[in-house]
Amino acid sequence: MDLRFSEEDEAFRREVAQWLADNLSGEFAVVRGRGGPGDEHALFEERRAWERKMGEAGWSCIGFPKEYGGRGATFTQQVIYYEEYARAGGPGRIGHIGETLLGPTIIAFGTEEQKHRFLPPIVKAEELWCQGYSEPNAGSDLANVQTKARLEGNEWVIEGQKVWTSGAQWSDWCFALCRTDPNAPNHKAISYLLVPMRQKGVEIRPIVQMTGDSEFSEVFFDGARTAAENIVGTVNGGWAVAMGTLAFERGASTLGQQHSFQNELEQVVEIAQANGAADDPVIRQRLADAWIELRIMRFNALRAFSHEGTELSREAMITKLYWATWHRSLGKLAMDVLGAQSEIADTLPYGLNRLQRLFLFTRSDTIYAGTNQIQRNIIAERALGLPREPRGK
Ligand SMILES: Cc1cc2nc3c(=O)[nH]c(=O)nc-3n(C[C@H](O)[C@H](O)[C@H](O)COP(=O)(O)OP(=O)(O)OC[C@H]3O[C@@H](n4cnc5c(N)ncnc54)[C@H](O)[C@@H]3O)c2cc1C
Repeated sequence: MDLRFSEEDEAFRREVAQWLADNLSGEFAVVRGRGGPGDEHALFEERRAWERKMGEAGWSCIGFPKEYGGRGATFTQQVIYYEEYARAGGPGRIGHIGETLLGPTIIAFGTEEQKHRFLPPIVKAEELWCQGYSEPNAGSDLANVQTKARLEGNEWVIEGQKVWTSGAQWSDWCFALCRTDPNAPNHKAISYLLVPMRQKGVEIRPIVQMTGDSEFSEVFFDGARTAAENIVGTVNGGWAVAMGTLAFERGASTLGQQHSFQNELEQVVEIAQANGAADDPVIRQRLADAWIELRIMRFNALRAFSHEGTELSREAMITKLYWATWHRSLGKLAMDVLGAQSEIADTLPYGLNRLQRLFLFTRSDTIYAGTNQIQRNIIAERALGLPREPRGK
C-alpha cells in the first residue's frame, strides 16, 4: 500500500499552507489557535469574520462543487486542507456543522433547489447550522426520536424536544430528525427536516457544562414551522439520510484532525519540559506513547483515503473509537503533567487554563458522535460480522 501523496497533492498542500500563512495574520492573528475544545465561545465574531474571509477567497467548504461556492476538491485534498489548517493554527470553525455534516448531506441526498438555496450561505458563513438528533430518550438509540412533525398546508409543524444540540444558540437552522408517521416502525417513521431556528416556536436553553461554558443547549419545538419542501430525502425516509450524515461525521475533517492533536501534544510536551515533569520516566513514556499513537492514527487515516461516500469503510469504523480514546487520554496526561497546578483555577471564580478546559472537554469525546460502546458494537457487527445485538421494535 502506497501511503504517499502525489506531486499534485503536495503542490495543493503548498498552496493551502501559503494562503493560510499569508492570511492568518494582521487582524486575524488574534484568532490563531482559538475556539478549540472547551474554548468554543472565544472570539466568536472575529472567527465569524475569518470564516467569511475564507469563503470569499474560496478556502471554505472546498469539497462542495464549484457551482455552489466550493472548489470541487477531492477527498484527499480536503484531508490535506484540514491538516494544513490545523498546522497553521487555524481557529475552531464556527460553521463546521454546516460544512462537514449538513453540506455533504445535501450534496448527496438533496434536491437541486436545496443545493442552490442552502450551500452558498454555508460557504460564506452567513447561515450556521446545528444538528437536532439527540433527545432525552434517543441518543445511542437514535431511532427512538419522539419529536413529531405533521404537514399543515404547505408547512411542517414540529413539536418536541432535542438535547445536547451543539451551537444551537448561534444557529440559524437545525437539521432535525422528526417522527412523521405515528404508526410505522421507528426506522420507517422518521423524516429529515430543515428547520429555521429564529422563530417563535423554537426555544433554546443553553446547558452549562463543566468547562463553565455552554457549547450545547436544549431545544424545544412548540409549534415550530418549516416549509413543506424543507425535507431531505422522502417523507418517512429520513433514516438513510441520517445515517449518511453520520458517515460524513467521520469523514475528511476527522481524518485531517491529527495536526490539531499534534499541536495540543506539543503544548503538553513543552510544559513537561519546562516544569520538570518530563524527568519522570513514567510521564516520559506516556508522552512517547501518545506520539506513537498519533502516528498510528495518521497511518490509519491514510489507509482510509481510498474509501469515499456515504458508506463507512472498515478503517473509518475504528477511527472514532481510536481518536476519542486517544484525545481523552491526552487530557488526563495534560493534568498529570501540570501536577498540583491542574487543580487550581487561574482566576476566580472559575477561570480555567487551556489544558484544564481540554481535559474537561475531552471527557465528552467518547460520548458524542457515537459513544465508545456504540463504536465497538458497530465494529463488531459491521466490520467483523459478529451477530447483531437484539434490537427493540
Ligand atoms: C459535547 C457533546 C456534544 C453533542 N452534540 C450533539 C449535537 O450537536 N446534536 C445531537 O443531536 N447530539 C449531540 N450530542 C449527543 C450525543 O450524540 C449523545 O450524547 C450520544 O449519542 C449518547 O447518547 P445519550 O447521551 O443519550 O446516552 P445513552 O444512549 O443513554 O447511553 C448511556 C450509556 O449507555 C451506553 N449504551 C447505550 N446503548 C448501548 C448499547 N446498545 N450497547 C452498549 N452500550 C450502550 C452508552 O455507551 C453510554 O455509556 C452531543 C453530546 C456531547 C457530549
